[in-house]
Amino acid sequence: MDKYPQAEKVLIEYLTAKKLRRTPERFHLLRVVYGIDKHFTADELYEQMRGVFRVSRATVYSNLDLFVQIGLVSKFLVINSVRYEKCLGMKPHYHMICTKCGEIKEFEDSKISSAIELARCPRFIRHSYSLSVLGFCYKCQAKANRAKRKQQSEDESLQNKRKTTKNDKG
Ligand SMILES: [Zn+2]
Ligand SMILES: [Zn+2]
Repeated sequence: MDKYPQAEKVLIEYLTAKKLRRTPERFHLLRVVYGIDKHFTADELYEQMRGVFRVSRATVYSNLDLFVQIGLVSKFLVINSVRYEKCLGMKPHYHMICTKCGEIKEFEDSKISSAIELARCPRFIRHSYSLSVLGFCYKCQAKANRAKRKQQSEDESLQNKRKTTKNDKG
């Protein structure tokens, strides 16, 4: 379901309360964000916006930060780069991030979600959360295993060579 109208309402409420301008870029940016079904970087969003709307990179960055602040977008770190994704209407999910290649996979776990919901956060209003599990994806594991096997067989053939040279001498 399209959650843009709901997100727009949150933004309008915030801008009104803070007496900030309702610039069309802000709403356009939010609409684009709510049309993206995966994780994105600020630069990717900027590239996507650039084709259809005159907007500066700084505007994209500052508005993304605002959306994060008011709980419309969540932000997480992948190795050294920041990724964003929309919040409203998203199923609670977590990220498995490969620290070798940067691949992001999502997973769900109702036990984690309910534990977080039940967790006590005294004097704190929660609007979102993000959780990442770091490790190695299966592709990087396979690559590492292949490299290990190659090294082993090289070591073995080197040892065999040494043995034969020894035997030749002896
Ligand atoms: Zn990987
Ligand atoms: Zn995600």
